[in-house]
Amino acid sequence: MNCDAQKLYVIYGDNPDEMINKLFSKVKIEERIDKNARIGIKPNLVVAKPADLGATTSEKLCEAVIAYLKAQGFTDIVILEGSWIGESTARAFSVCGYTQLSEKYGVPLIDLQRDAYSSVTVDGIEIAVCDAVRGVDYFINMPVLKGHCQTKITCALKNLKGCIPNSEKRRFHRLGLHKPIAVLNKAIKTDLIIVDGLVGDLNFEEGGNPVQMDRIIVGFDPVLVDSYAAELLGYSPEEIEYITMAEELGVGKCLENKEQVVELNPQKHSKKIPHSREVAQLARYLDDLDACSACYGSAIHALARLDDQGLLDRINTKLVIGQGYQGMTGDSAVGIGSCTGGFTRHIKGCPPTAKTIIDKLMEQFVLK
Ligand code: SF4
Repeated sequence: MNCDAQKLYVIYGDNPDEMINKLFSKVKIEERIDKNARIGIKPNLVVAKPADLGATTSEKLCEAVIAYLKAQGFTDIVILEGSWIGESTARAFSVCGYTQLSEKYGVPLIDLQRDAYSSVTVDGIEIAVCDAVRGVDYFINMPVLKGHCQTKITCALKNLKGCIPNSEKRRFHRLGLHKPIAVLNKAIKTDLIIVDGLVGDLNFEEGGNPVQMDRIIVGFDPVLVDSYAAELLGYSPEEIEYITMAEELGVGKCLENKEQVVELNPQKHSKKIPHSREVAQLARYLDDLDACSACYGSAIHALARLDDQGLLDRINTKLVIGQGYQGMTGDSAVGIGSCTGGFTRHIKGCPPTAKTIIDKLMEQFVLK
């Protein structure tokens, strides 16, 4: 085995095919899967919207995963999804590019809204889980890194909500979401997580305020993945109830130190997507000179969290960000990211997480 299950592998960029090949050549995924295994891939197609709107898993990323697995000789691969109540999964498959993907690679699409299901009892809670999910030998969870209006974030743990029938989704909401999400992750064992951190939404599951984060994260423990995702979006893992509940249930362990995060490449500048009105409002606080999208995205998520707490108006200085500030100095502005290291007040990281940006601004700089 070439990688440690308690590690996360992060690659930056905007070319999923290249990124997946580099990631998988590092983690050697083919050595972990039985050649005859039935592999189930669970993207997030909660709604029928293309991935660049921030809600759904990029079909290009899914294609890169399928192409890699096929090239390694795996033949029994299926894509499983049940969109949210009110959306037709078949429509989501079509609009999100998965129908074409299925035809191109001969990979069946399984609509979990139409699947049979059976009950599993975990921690005294009975949960209905779709049979097709229980029928796979190797389960690959491909969530999107994004904010959520009820649970603050949604990533690996919450993506499994697409693996239950609609009646059960309604019941999850009545049960307050957090506990059943944690329990569901005990009922369904995830073998591999590939997070689409290319473009995710600022604060809504259904997209509309896309934020470019330019990264893919690979891990094997959904609690570990989500504890890191929480920090990337500006929260401590303890602020997301279902993460701590899942850890208590023994689903996995939260991130303990930075050494667990293995970054496979440095940042590079990339083209930015247009801002929605809400993102543009937050971007007014940033003086950007050639910032990488990964860094800029962290800053936007940090500003959104400060806005949630009513603290945005207390930012009383310029926030500078980007490679264009390399070698520059200054006393008045606060720099975000290692490129701004010449500024007396700056926040380290390449890129820093949204949580780091918030903590530093709160503790040391403009929000004291
Ligand atoms: S610190 Fe500089 S190089 Fe690093 S992510 Fe930010 S802008 Fe890019």
